[in-house]
Amino acid sequence: LSRKVEMTNWEKGHYINYKKMNENLNIVRGRLNRPLTYAEKILYSHLDDPHGQEIERGSSYLKLRPDRVACQDATAQMAILQFMSAGMDSVATPSTVHCDHLIEAQVGGVKDLARANDINKEVYDFLSTSCAKYNIGFWRPGSGIIHQIILENYAFPGALMIGTDSHTPNAGGLGMAAIGVGGADAVDVMADLPWELKAPKVIGVKLTGEMSGWTSAKDIILKVAGILTVKGGTGAIVEYHGPGTNTLSCTGMGTICNMGAEIGATTSLFPFNDRMYDYLAATKRTEIGDFAREYAAELREDEGAEYDQLVEINLSELEPYINGPFTPDLATPISKWKEAVKTNKWPEDLKVGLIGSCTNSSYEDMSRAANIAEDAMSHGIKANALFTVTPGSEQIRATIERDGQLKTFEEFGGMVLANACGPCIGQWDRKDVKKGEPNSIISSYNRNFTGRNDANPATHAFVTSPDLVVAMTIAGTLNFNPLTDTLKDKDGNEFMLKPPHGDGLPRNGYDPGQDTYQAPPADRSNVSVAVSPTSDRLQILEPFKAWDGKDALDVPILIKTQGKTTTDHISMAGPWLKYRGHLDNISNNMLIGAINAENGEANKVKNFQTGDYDAVPATARDYKKNGIPWVVVGDWNYGEGSSREHAALEPRHLGGLAIITRSFARIHETNLKKQGMLPLVFAEPADYDKIQPEDKVDLLITELAVGKPMTLKVHPHDGSSTFDVKLVHTFNEGQIEWFKNGSALNTMAKKAAE
Ligand code: SF4
Repeated sequence: LSRKVEMTNWEKGHYINYKKMNENLNIVRGRLNRPLTYAEKILYSHLDDPHGQEIERGSSYLKLRPDRVACQDATAQMAILQFMSAGMDSVATPSTVHCDHLIEAQVGGVKDLARANDINKEVYDFLSTSCAKYNIGFWRPGSGIIHQIILENYAFPGALMIGTDSHTPNAGGLGMAAIGVGGADAVDVMADLPWELKAPKVIGVKLTGEMSGWTSAKDIILKVAGILTVKGGTGAIVEYHGPGTNTLSCTGMGTICNMGAEIGATTSLFPFNDRMYDYLAATKRTEIGDFAREYAAELREDEGAEYDQLVEINLSELEPYINGPFTPDLATPISKWKEAVKTNKWPEDLKVGLIGSCTNSSYEDMSRAANIAEDAMSHGIKANALFTVTPGSEQIRATIERDGQLKTFEEFGGMVLANACGPCIGQWDRKDVKKGEPNSIISSYNRNFTGRNDANPATHAFVTSPDLVVAMTIAGTLNFNPLTDTLKDKDGNEFMLKPPHGDGLPRNGYDPGQDTYQAPPADRSNVSVAVSPTSDRLQILEPFKAWDGKDALDVPILIKTQGKTTTDHISMAGPWLKYRGHLDNISNNMLIGAINAENGEANKVKNFQTGDYDAVPATARDYKKNGIPWVVVGDWNYGEGSSREHAALEPRHLGGLAIITRSFARIHETNLKKQGMLPLVFAEPADYDKIQPEDKVDLLITELAVGKPMTLKVHPHDGSSTFDVKLVHTFNEGQIEWFKNGSALNTMAKKAAE
């Protein structure tokens, strides 16, 4: 195992370290003395301290050393801006950035890409120059969707990767544990800090039998989503195993892992097998395939490994599924489909069929879809609804152009969009229906929450395999089952579509298409990072001020929030996403969704200086201008939702000192600490009720010490006497340093300068 095999063809000097992984695993094996699942093997072989790490599935926090980091363009902006503050001249872990989320679908790939290049120029310039500066591989707009590029170029069996996108788990199709995280986690790993993950539980999905006919890999995850629901995978890795896994293509396994994000799973993965080897060989990585074969015994579960939950699926009996509308876990098998459409009164007329996306744009997917389209055209009929194709990468696009599928789609009536996310993330200038008009669309994507594709809450979006998307598009109606129903050819004669077939891998190899990769230059010292001081989308981060060493006295409560305060309430998405790289601008959404306990309203708080009610961000800015720090008082599970780091950066930027709650969502709590804020919790949850929004507080910060409570003196606004409240916290020594230095990044920069 001590051979030197590069992790990827795109970088030099980053070798696959099966030897070290094997050593780590043996240390952990000696300690645990039980059979391990494959998910555990990957995690434990990447432990920072395999000797000392506490390991209890579902409860311990593992400190891990991932092999790679991947960021998409929307999340990369703030991640890189933060990394820049760490004072390092190169990322410590191999990293890539992928331009895929900011390209709007309007009239077709070429023009849409040109327009995106124009509109997003400053963001792309920033990303390309900062990647060059900090030694990050940069995939330009048009290169494709992050997860497809990772599968084609970077994923390898047994590896651990984090990515700032929820569908990062796609790489599980190549036996990699690939986990979606927030930008703050990516920054840690780029800056050589271990990455913390609560040791996941492991859900086993055992596959037996073999699929045939209209059933495809997508149907496995559509069925699993129906069984486990959108919450069923929370805190768990879904591990597929059993003889059925060998009957799936590598990209099909990718599809399954990709959509595992919809059940809330930490990630999903498949054991290394010959299909993965074939895919590695087809993507010019035979050496990696051979190396993986040497380490194959540890690239699967041990005999007798136990799962926290087990699901079994017989592929020979699996039907095609269609999931939705409005939620990906409402799973309907094709045999019950027409009845479900009728009973639920879903709009029968199909408006648009969309194939592609990171979920389903493999060569196999495209070949099968084209095969169905050809079948229809051989009977003289074409698409009866609008039809779009999103190739997952430039390599896929170029290959299906060479091999004819692209031409088939165009003749069929399709519009080929840019190699990017497009309608999957709402980047879709949809014109065929008005906002608010109920209508149905069907896609091979993964997510179908209300309004996701076209911002129309009345759009009924269904997700299924590309095969069924094409079949339904030919019919032009949801009231169709290709397994049982006939269509009419151009002369009015009835015929049935043939079950699709298509090659798993291109017979003539992949065509790489245009070169869309920018490698970091050998000499990076003269590269300057492009950020215009007048930009409204990007802003270099100023380091936050260090703590002044004093208690904070007579501090106002900016807002006492009531009920749920999610990261979406703290830092809303939607139109604000545009400002992700500009902390001051995006801070204008701070806490605008949180409910003020005083009046039950959102974004309306009293400014104690003026006595007037104003928006939360405006009030905070006014306090900041006058040098007055402030605190937030919050309810249970404050900061639940996503790992969005803006929810912690914004209060810090606008002068916040502490967030005091009944309890925190853990990731948000850590994010607050990283930004130099004080997340504190009422020792007695009932004390939340004793504090009124207009009270002032003294925060005795000088008491801050590991495991010790902190005193909050409350000066009631009604003039009644001052009382003390006890606050607790979870700061460790290192995190107290973050607070003292002003942030985790200040702490890193200080160390880098030493
Ligand atoms: Fe996310 Fe859709 Fe893009 Fe995939 S194609 S990365 S699911 S937005």
